[in-house]
Amino acid sequence: MKKIELLAPAGNLEKAKTAILYGADAVYIGGKSFSLRSRASNFSLEEIGELVEFANAHSAHVHVTVNMLPHESDLEGLEDYLLDLDRLGVHAIIVASPSIMMTAKKLGCHFEVHVSTQHSSTNSNTVRFWKEQGMDRVVLARECQMDEIKKIAQADILPIEVFIHGGMCISYSGRCVLSNHMTLRDANRGGCAQSCRWKYHLMDGNTEVSNPDNLFSMSSKDLQAVNQIASFIEWGVSSLKIEGRMKSAYYLATVVSSYRHLIDLIYQQGYVSDQQLKDIQFEIAKAENRQTGPGFYQGIPGYQVQLYQDHDETVTQEYVASVLAVDDDSVLLQVKNKFTLDDELEIFGPHTLSTDISLTGITDENDLPLVVCNKPMQKVKTYWQGPKEVGAMIRKRRKKI
Ligand code: SF4
Repeated sequence: MKKIELLAPAGNLEKAKTAILYGADAVYIGGKSFSLRSRASNFSLEEIGELVEFANAHSAHVHVTVNMLPHESDLEGLEDYLLDLDRLGVHAIIVASPSIMMTAKKLGCHFEVHVSTQHSSTNSNTVRFWKEQGMDRVVLARECQMDEIKKIAQADILPIEVFIHGGMCISYSGRCVLSNHMTLRDANRGGCAQSCRWKYHLMDGNTEVSNPDNLFSMSSKDLQAVNQIASFIEWGVSSLKIEGRMKSAYYLATVVSSYRHLIDLIYQQGYVSDQQLKDIQFEIAKAENRQTGPGFYQGIPGYQVQLYQDHDETVTQEYVASVLAVDDDSVLLQVKNKFTLDDELEIFGPHTLSTDISLTGITDENDLPLVVCNKPMQKVKTYWQGPKEVGAMIRKRRKKI
């Protein structure tokens, strides 16, 4: 049986490499052209080439989003861009526009063409349609429920990809024009201003019914599908997708390694216990900065899965350092956030599950003792007994409730 793919987002080269090192089988990235979320910081062709080489060396794949809905004026340069991606050896492109699908097939590109979730594919006949168009995989709509995913996957028409973690639209994904209306920024050409999350005065006629001190806002809790992974594997889903190309390397490392651990447990044991599921949810929560819920995977989402009031994202300060080098007794760290000699810390890494550590000493690079590390990017030498791994991350320990 082919093992299910864990597919992670990456907003830059460092994040893509981190996701692969922490257990992603594939990463999806945006190039500088034809991608939703097109922005200057997206991958250049040179960076895509470097990433493909890195991925090949780690038996991983690179998918590139070419998922904007282009108007006539947007299509210039498309053929050259697709041929460049093909030459660089990307494994797949993720596409929403039939125009781009047809062009990729006409050019005879070797990469797979995956139908983007922007197409709202919600049933097996739609998947059959995409097969007839020569597509290689369908990313299902986030609005699919579990019984629908089961039917579509078991129909075994094309490989199926489903979302398992990250942001959800309060509106039907790919069908929202709120941003276009409010800001003239086209959500389907990469410009969504997330207008749904703004604060609004809620009016009933001329009477305000919202609390002026706590204005109305709407967004969905982020998706978290730890409880559904075993079913997806059993039904023959091909790929599990994490959302969030703008998320930090720390977030990716935490979420990717947690789902990697879960998937591996299911294949090794044939099942996963309730306690193991709880432990994995606890692990993921260490990097979450928004509330999470099951999305559409426990039926039509009710008010419990939505956020209607203040829900500002908080930046976690728990990630305190990364491991740069390890020698016989000391570990060279790069400081990310403040920590002290007395803090309760834990290490986790590409090959290290979360493990508590107690520092016995910290020095600066001139071997002068330190008690507090509060200069971001400073390099410090630290000492502890227990696991050590280059590339691992150090964070403050969170107490289990
Ligand atoms: S405005 Fe909100 S619901 Fe609409 S596309 Fe943007 S994030 Fe999604």
